[in-house]
This record gives sequence, C-alpha cells and structure tokens, in this order.
Amino acid sequence: MKKVATFRCRDLGLECDYEMQAEGEDELMKRVEGHVMNAHEMDVSKEETRNKILSAVR
Ligand SMILES: [Zn+2]
Repeated sequence: MKKVATFRCRDLGLECDYEMQAEGEDELMKRVEGHVMNAHEMDVSKEETRNKILSAVR
C-alpha cells in the first residue's frame, strides 16, 4: 500500500499556489520537477535541491 505524498511550493517558502499529489515520493518527484525547474529555476538534478523538495513533502 502506497501512501499519498503531497508537495506544496509554499512549504518551501515560495510565493506560489502550486500543489501536487502522487502515490509515493518517487512519482511525486517526477511530477514536481518540471514545475520547480520552469517556475522557480531549481535544478532537481542536484542532490541538495532534491532533498530540499523531499523535506517539504508530506
Ligand atoms: Zn511553484
């Protein structure tokens, strides 16, 4: 059984109403990376950035 993971840009302190849900963190990461790259110029290929996003996932 997979848990539903939720990411909100606001949890990263960004002024953005983007919110995404997916079953599991891996799937969520795939869905979120396009948005954070285009809208916030965050490089998700960097370990540091991925960790930052994952720490905001709940
Ligand atoms: Zn955003």
